[in-house]
Amino acid sequence: MKNGKLIIISGPSGVGKSTIRKRLVEKNNNFWYSISMTTRKPRIDEKTNKLEENGNEYYFVSLEEFKENIKKDNFFEYTEVYNGIYYGTLKSEVIEKLEHGINVILEIDVDGALKIKKNFPEAILIFIKPKSFFELEQRLRNRKSDSEDKIKERLDKALYEIEKSIYYDYVIESNTKEEDYERVKEIVLKKVEN
Ligand code: 5GP
Repeated sequence: MKNGKLIIISGPSGVGKSTIRKRLVEKNNNFWYSISMTTRKPRIDEKTNKLEENGNEYYFVSLEEFKENIKKDNFFEYTEVYNGIYYGTLKSEVIEKLEHGINVILEIDVDGALKIKKNFPEAILIFIKPKSFFELEQRLRNRKSDSEDKIKERLDKALYEIEKSIYYDYVIESNTKEEDYERVKEIVLKKVEN
């Protein structure tokens, strides 16, 4: 059996990555979204207005539990994405699926993505770039769930991520949600069929 493809979607917080990957998984067969583990606290989802649930968007754990998973070598990759806040892709969400021919989608930051690309060059890296920095700031502020400090941290990280996007296989400048989805889908389906 042919292995599944590993597809990594990155882009600044607020750029619409999760809408794209949700549609990819819902509307196409044979795609699996890898749920990451994080030490960040659940927040109110701006679309549903509900608190994020464990095992749905993320596995929310304490720092101790996260470190325990590092010790047990359970991570495919992990990164301190924000100061003191860790995010990691679990091997259990990825390896077996790929071996069973299932295409796995990761929605992770640039550092995690580039670490994976080094060891796993066949990974397909797609970066969603905001049309303008101003627009990104507006989107983050509209979320209302983050403090000013958090918004600033996310904007700084966005600048860093945009710089690193030159190492990606594809960079898509964000337009409408529909168009962004169609462009990612086109890339991904072509790769998957190969
Ligand atoms: P948020 O807290 O807004 O859900 O996500 C913050 C950032 O963490 C996003 O850029 C997201 O892509 C990244 N992220 C989520 N899960 C992982 C992961 O497992 N590994 C890495 N390296 N980054 C992740």
